[in-house]
Amino acid sequence: GHGDPQAAAPAAPRDDASALALDKIRLESHLREALDKGELEVRLQPILDIASKRIAGFEALTRWTHPERGPISPAEFIALAEETSLIVPVGDYVLDAVCGALQRLGRQEQGEDIFVALNVSGRQLDDEQLLDRFLAVLHAHGIRPAQLKIEITESLVLDYAQVSRIIQRCHAAGLKVALDDFGTGYSNLGHLHKLEFDTLKMDQGFIRQMHEPRCLAIVRAVVAMADSLGCNIVAEGVETPEQLRALGELGCTYAQGWLIGKPLALDEAVALLGRDS
Ligand code: C2E
Ligand code: MG
Ligand code: MG
Ligand code: MG
Repeated sequence: GHGDPQAAAPAAPRDDASALALDKIRLESHLREALDKGELEVRLQPILDIASKRIAGFEALTRWTHPERGPISPAEFIALAEETSLIVPVGDYVLDAVCGALQRLGRQEQGEDIFVALNVSGRQLDDEQLLDRFLAVLHAHGIRPAQLKIEITESLVLDYAQVSRIIQRCHAAGLKVALDDFGTGYSNLGHLHKLEFDTLKMDQGFIRQMHEPRCLAIVRAVVAMADSLGCNIVAEGVETPEQLRALGELGCTYAQGWLIGKPLALDEAVALLGRDS
């Protein structure tokens, strides 16, 4: 009953928990609306080929500006979408935007075609039909599969057999695969040789500390390792000319970060390529 002290005691934590749950439900319905209204924006962060000084491709990074709360980080709303079934329409929306971008970015006059890297989350990887849907959408847009690079975050690589199977299926279909956030704590070097990633993305934490000799030693070793494994390598979070110069000297393939460019709107990405060639 209302006056029962035993029933009243846990009321505060329960209220907190239900307030949080309610908050999440609200956010989820806002995300659903945002999808319907096309309020998610896919931005493109340029990736520089260090040796040729040309833009080789872009990473698609999704943005959501909530009408009242302002920008919500993708780390937060992707996690929310993962907890619900929204990750499927969110993922499809992003892929559609990426295909549209690839159509406009077009092919290079010389050298390799522009690629766009797409982040996929854990729930998406578990979806057996995902690759078939991806290929159907690419085909419908007339995009060559090799222009799409799937980014798998290192922390998702727990089930090596599953990831190995996914990489093989991607390769059979002509898609490229990158290991994202390499070196952030889940690396198991004993398994890495079994996973034939096309690209390693070295986490920005290493780049930030490259001025320290011991960190530089690790970056140098990772670049050499990627090379020996036949992977190209992207340095993430490159913010200073000194970092870019040092990475070039080490033979790092690609650089991504504020120094090269922030995540851009599609028009800006197209303009950047125009200046570049
Ligand atoms: P990520 O894939 O590792 O993306 C790189 C993150 O580093 C991005 O954060 C980017 O804005 C940020 N960044 C790039 N250059 C610099 C730099 O020079 N300095 C610093 N400090 N940061 C830099 P963002 O956009 O907040 O994305 C966070 C994460 O959310 C991404 O990490 C990715 O895992 C996930 N994500 C973003 N978009 C999507 C998406 O469409 N689908 C999925 N599944 N995940 C996404
Ligand atoms: Mg990524
Ligand atoms: Mg990353
Ligand atoms: Mg990251």
